[in-house]
Amino acid sequence: MKIFEESKNLKSAIKKLKTKELTIGFVPTMGALHAGHISLIKSCKSQTDITICSIFVNPTQFNDKTDFEKYPATLENDIHLLEKAGCNILFIPSVEEMYPKGFANSNKINFSFLANTLEGEHRPGHFDGMAQIVEKLLTIVQPDFLFMGLKDFQQQLIVSKLIQVRKLGTKLIAIDTKREKDGLAMSSRNVRLDKKNRTLAAEISKTLKWVKSKIKLVKNVDDLMAIQKKGLNKLSSYKEFEVEYFEIRNAKTLKRPRNLTEKMVVLVAAKIGGVRLIDNMLVN
Ligand code: AMP
Repeated sequence: MKIFEESKNLKSAIKKLKTKELTIGFVPTMGALHAGHISLIKSCKSQTDITICSIFVNPTQFNDKTDFEKYPATLENDIHLLEKAGCNILFIPSVEEMYPKGFANSNKINFSFLANTLEGEHRPGHFDGMAQIVEKLLTIVQPDFLFMGLKDFQQQLIVSKLIQVRKLGTKLIAIDTKREKDGLAMSSRNVRLDKKNRTLAAEISKTLKWVKSKIKLVKNVDDLMAIQKKGLNKLSSYKEFEVEYFEIRNAKTLKRPRNLTEKMVVLVAAKIGGVRLIDNMLVN
């Protein structure tokens, strides 16, 4: 695996690969890699000639300073996991490399409701920062395929819009959420949970599953609100959880469903022991 720290060196390596007509797949990450990330690398490898991964903990997408400071960094192990998974190129730029002095985020895309609701409501500025760095990375890597996790459901919807608005010519491929045996969605933040909270954290996916099973039985769209409320109450009944939202939404627009034929997703964000976890499940 080749490692690049500077975008100009990475760009010239990619240029050479493109002249050989090799297809390029890209997996952007913030490191502290786990089996969820590796499943993206494996999907990428099976569908493209060259797999490029990036590790960059993007400061502009953290609205919470402590979350940024406590974000786990495990570069040596990440490199080992990527090599084992057969990743071809790793890009690990510095903050200065991605945000040169005097750089301003002008020409922002207005994602409107898609970025203002749910995560956008609870993490102001998060999606502006995320879109900014993903656009920068896509401009450098110019991949044929971009692999992202459904775990960050709202994120992949926004990136899909970004690709469309900027006409980036990359095909986004969304990959299912990889879970622990008890159902907890794998996340770099899980290592910050103590033993008791780690056990309890499985209630998030259990509640999503329960709500999903109830939605399937619904005959009237107005009954969705009651199910959503039950889901929220179920999770909130544990004093350890501070639930930020628990919502049933349209899986494309993130608006509240008005019709039972719409594709739906149940999304949740909850803090437990100071660790903020998100998860979601598609219903139909
Ligand atoms: P992150 O390092 O958290 O920014 O995640 C990098 C990519 O991995 C994003 O596209 C995430 O959606 C994806 N990802 C994170 N956790 C999982 C998981 N448990 N299963 C599948 N993909 C994931």
